[in-house]
Amino acid sequence: MSDPSKKVYLHLDFKGIVPELPRLLQYLTWFRDLGFDGIVPEYDLRIDWRTWPGAPEPCFSREDIAGINAHCEKIGLEVIPLMQCLGHFEWVLRHEKYAHLRENGFRSEFCPSHPETAARMREFLQEVLELHPRARMIHLGADETWHLASCPRCAGLVRNAPEGKLAVYLKYVSQLCRDALARGVRPLIWADMFWRESRLDLVDRMPREAILVNWEYRADASPDARNAALAAGGNEVWGASALQCFREDFWARADADHPGRLANIGVWNARSVNVICTTWGRPSNLWPLYAPWPSIHREFMEASPRPVPPPAELAELGEAWDRLAEEAASLLARGDSLRHLRAVLRVSGKYTGDAPELLTTHFEPPLAKLEADSSAWCEKTGRFFRRARLLSGEEFIAERRAAILAGLD
Ligand SMILES: [Zn+2]
Repeated sequence: MSDPSKKVYLHLDFKGIVPELPRLLQYLTWFRDLGFDGIVPEYDLRIDWRTWPGAPEPCFSREDIAGINAHCEKIGLEVIPLMQCLGHFEWVLRHEKYAHLRENGFRSEFCPSHPETAARMREFLQEVLELHPRARMIHLGADETWHLASCPRCAGLVRNAPEGKLAVYLKYVSQLCRDALARGVRPLIWADMFWRESRLDLVDRMPREAILVNWEYRADASPDARNAALAAGGNEVWGASALQCFREDFWARADADHPGRLANIGVWNARSVNVICTTWGRPSNLWPLYAPWPSIHREFMEASPRPVPPPAELAELGEAWDRLAEEAASLLARGDSLRHLRAVLRVSGKYTGDAPELLTTHFEPPLAKLEADSSAWCEKTGRFFRRARLLSGEEFIAERRAAILAGLD
């Protein structure tokens, strides 16, 4: 580690595959052994929030969260809860009862100018902090508001504003930062909207105490210039790596993109700023699942200040997952091969005449074998999820099976 004062936090995205509580506590202990300073849990829809009735799909009770907090305090992991405040609210806005709060009808983000949005978000902030009475910091999200200022109300507000679209963003997000500060907690936000809109000159309009997080997940990331630009207004800047994140074919894969992820982690390990290591569970609540934590043990270790191997039980889960992921990749390749064969025979038939006997001999038997082997993989993977005490196994398995047999079954 280049700087002993550097803090490294682990973001845990609970909208993905979540471990049951005892397994989660076991992982937290390993994370502490790895030298992480704290966790940044993104609870998303996994708590029965009273602010958003009808939207949550809870996995954890309030007592569970209190237990997680107590465990973290005992072992010395700081907890920085992450709530979103504008974008990535698909889990709420996909419900019709909240449709009036969508930005220009888009289900991914709230309209920051709708008076109900700010009122509800203050209530949500209070509810999150009630669960975390000892939190020193809170992450407010605020990233990827792709449709910012596209509704007629927001568009009217920004039309003549020198800040452009960010006029409504700055007003709304700054106020929520001040609300957090008034409650004694320091806010963090993902800072991408400043570079998406090419308005890094506006970072000095944020409250000075707000921490701006420069997330940069590419394998060849080069974050120094943007770190400097974000710091120009005097705000503290942190970085963020990704141990698991979007890749073009993630929906078909049971494994992480290890070379790309390890390279990105290396970029941030070499920087002296504090870093949040993200472990995304899915791109959003409208997307399929990424693979579970046992698939990224090597990434946890690479990102950690003190790489120690996982305890035997977790290590065994990691090895078992690697085997399942390898089998899934092989099944996917066999499915691709059969899709290619069928497509090519349809074309070659125009030259050679139809040859149904080729389908009988070279397509149907391997397809039957592929279906049987896929079913066996699904059963084995289901047993893994139960043994590993991971939730969402049914969804994950159905999604990967669909990729293997796409267009064949
Ligand atoms: Zn709006």
